[in-house]
Amino acid sequence: MSAGLNLAQQEAVNYLHGPCLVLAGAGSGKTRVITHKIARLIQAGLEPKRIAAITFTNKAAAEMRERAKGLIGRDARHVVVCTFHALGVRMMREDGAVLGLKPQFSILDADDVTKILKDAGGTTDAATARSWQWTISKWKNMGLNAAEAEAQAVDDNERIIARIMARYEERLVAYQSVDFDDLIGMPLALLHKHPQVREKWQKALGHILVDEYQDTNATQYEVLKALAGERGSFTAVGDDDQSIYGWRGATLDNLKKLPIDYPQLKVIKLEQNYRSTSAILRAANNVIGPNPKLFPKTLFSELGEGEPVRVVDCDNEQHEAERAVARLLSLRENSPHKEWRDFAILYRANHQARVFEQALRKASIPYKVSGGQSFFDRAEIKDLCGWFRLWVNNDDDPAFLRAVTTPKRGIGHTTLQQLGVFASQYKLSLFEALFSSSLPSAVGKRGIEGLHEFGRYINDLEYRARHTKGAQDARAFLDSWLKEIEYEQHLYDGEESETAAATRWGHVMEFCDWMAQRCGGQVDDASGANAITEEPKSLLEVAQTISLLSTISERGEKEQNVLTLSTLHASKGLEWPHVLMVGVNEGMLPFKLDDDEGRQEKVQENTLERLQEERRLMYVGITRAQRSLAVSWVKRRKKGREMVRALPSRFIAEMALAQNTAKEDPREKLKALRAEFARKAQESAALAAKTA
Ligand code: ATP
Ligand code: MG
Repeated sequence: MSAGLNLAQQEAVNYLHGPCLVLAGAGSGKTRVITHKIARLIQAGLEPKRIAAITFTNKAAAEMRERAKGLIGRDARHVVVCTFHALGVRMMREDGAVLGLKPQFSILDADDVTKILKDAGGTTDAATARSWQWTISKWKNMGLNAAEAEAQAVDDNERIIARIMARYEERLVAYQSVDFDDLIGMPLALLHKHPQVREKWQKALGHILVDEYQDTNATQYEVLKALAGERGSFTAVGDDDQSIYGWRGATLDNLKKLPIDYPQLKVIKLEQNYRSTSAILRAANNVIGPNPKLFPKTLFSELGEGEPVRVVDCDNEQHEAERAVARLLSLRENSPHKEWRDFAILYRANHQARVFEQALRKASIPYKVSGGQSFFDRAEIKDLCGWFRLWVNNDDDPAFLRAVTTPKRGIGHTTLQQLGVFASQYKLSLFEALFSSSLPSAVGKRGIEGLHEFGRYINDLEYRARHTKGAQDARAFLDSWLKEIEYEQHLYDGEESETAAATRWGHVMEFCDWMAQRCGGQVDDASGANAITEEPKSLLEVAQTISLLSTISERGEKEQNVLTLSTLHASKGLEWPHVLMVGVNEGMLPFKLDDDEGRQEKVQENTLERLQEERRLMYVGITRAQRSLAVSWVKRRKKGREMVRALPSRFIAEMALAQNTAKEDPREKLKALRAEFARKAQESAALAAKTA
C-alpha cells in the first residue's frame, strides 16, 4: 500500500487505530491518502462494507470509487463511497421509521421547496420564497428547528420566516417529504435520540474517511462524531485554505474542534505538491499568504518552474471568450496534452459561462458545463433549437414534437398519438406522415387541419430562413417568427413569476442576437464600437451548424473527452493540465463585497471574513492547474444594459508579485522535511517505549 506514497502519506495510511487528521495544502495527495487507506484497511482485515468514504459531491464519489477500484479491484464495490447526504438517505431509509418517516419518503429539489414555501408563506414571488429558503436552510444547518429559530430571531423579519418555517415543516411531514438539509439533520436526530440506532451504525461502520473536511458544516461534524463514537476511528483530510463553503454553513471551527474533542488525534501534514509547477504554486502561495493561518504550512513542488502564469487583459467578455478559444487552440496544437479533457475554463458565477459556451460552439470545441446549467440546456433555448432543427431536418421526430407543442397550437395529445401510431406503422417520420394521403383515416378531421397547417408553416419558415441573409435581416426574421408563434406570451403563461419569465425572454433575445450575428454582414461587436464585415450567411445555414454542434457536444459529453466549464466552487478537488481562470475582476472575485445583493449576512461584520473566503476561492482556482494557468480580466463589462469600466481583481496583482519572488530550492526543502520526519519518528518511538 505504500507504493506511490511519500513518508508522511504512508504514516497517515498506516495509522489505523484512532482519529487521524491530514491537514495539507492543495495537490499534496490528501485524496490519494484516502483511497490508499481504504485499501490498507481492507488489507488489515476490515470488511469493505464497513468502510465509509465520504466525499463532497456525487461526482467526487464516483471518481473515488474508480480510483479505489483501480487499487483494490472488485472489493471496492462494497465500500460505502458517498456524500454525507447520500449516507443520510441510507440511514433514513433503514431507520427513519422511528422518526415517523416511511421508507419511501421523497426528497425535494430546490424547485419543490420554493413551491411549498410559496404556499406556506402566502406569496407568489419565487425570489421571496427563495430568500426564505436560504435562511431556513442556514438555520437547519445550524441544527435549529422552527421554534428554536424563532427564539433566536434577531428581528421581525427573522421571526416571520421562523413561523413560515414551522408551516413548511408541517407540510413536509404531511407529504412524507424531506429537503436537502434534512438529509443531514434527520440522521443526526436519529443518532442522538435513539441509542440503539446509534450503536447499530457505529458497529456497521468500522472506519470513516472524510475528504474535504474543511467544508463540513456543524451538523455534518456532529454526524461524524456520533458515527465514529468515542474510539474515533476516522480519518479526515482537508485544507483550511480551501474552505469555500462558509456561505453554506461550513465552518472552520470543525477543524479547531477536532483536537479538543479528540485529544488522541494524530495530525499529519503533507507539504509536497504533486500537481502543479513551481510557477503556479508560487502564485497560489502568494494569494493565500495574507490570510491568517490556522495551522502554518508551506507547499513546494518538484515538477520544475514551468511556464509563467499568464495574465491576460481583454476589452470585454466577448473578446475574453475569443482570446480563450485562441489560447485553447494554440495550446492544443503545441502541448503534449491534446485531449479536450485536459482543459478547463473556471469562473466565479454560473452566468459567466454563457459567452464562453457560445465561443466554444462557434469553434466546434466539445465541452460540458459542471456545477451549473448550460445556457444551451435551458428549456427556452431548447425550444428554439427544436424549431431550428425541424427547419433543417424535417424528419427529426423529437424536434417535431417539441415544436408542435411549444407553444401549444390546438393540436391535442390524442391527435399526436394517432399521428405517431400511423407514422410507425408506415415507417415514416412524423413530418412525412403528416402529408400522407392515408393519414385522414387515422386522425380526426380537426386534428388533420391543425397538422396540415403546422406542416405548411414549417415549410414556409424553412423557405424564409433559406432566403434570409445577413445579421440585420436574420434578426428581423427571428423577431417576426417569435411574434407569429406568440412565444413571449407562452413564457408569461407558464406558471412562473413575471421576473422568471422576463429572464427567460432575455435569454431568448440573447440567443437570437447570437444567431443573427453568425449570419454575418455588418455586425457590431459587443462594445458597439467596431463594425465587422463578414460574408453573409443564410439563417438556414446557421441553424444547420447549430444542430450539428449540439450533436457534437452530446457525443463529446458521452465520451467524456470534453473541455470542462466550471464554477470555481465545483472545481474543488479536481485537476487539469491547462486551466483558464476568466472574469477575474474586482466585484467578481472578490465578489461584490460592498453591496450585498442576494445575501443576508451583515456586511459590516463579515467583510473581512468574506474577503478571506474569496481569497481561498482564488487559491482553489489557481491550484487546479497542473502545467499552465492563464488568468484573464475584462476592462469593460455589462451592467444591466450598459457597458461599464471594470478593474482587475486585487488578487491578480498579488499573484503576479509571486513571479518575482526568489525561488526556493525544492530539494533543500525536501531534505529538511525528511529530517523533520525522522525526528518525529524518533519521538514517537520514544513515546511508545515510555508507555509500553
Ligand atoms: P486538493 O487539495 O486539490 O483536493 P489533494 O491534496 O487531494 O488536492 P490529490 O488529488 O490526492 O491531492 O493529488 C494531487 C495529484 O498528485 C494527483 O494527480 C495525485 O495522483 C498526485 N500524487 C499525490 N501523491 C503523490 C505521490 N506520493 N507520488 C506521486 N503523485 C502523487
Ligand atoms: Mg483532494
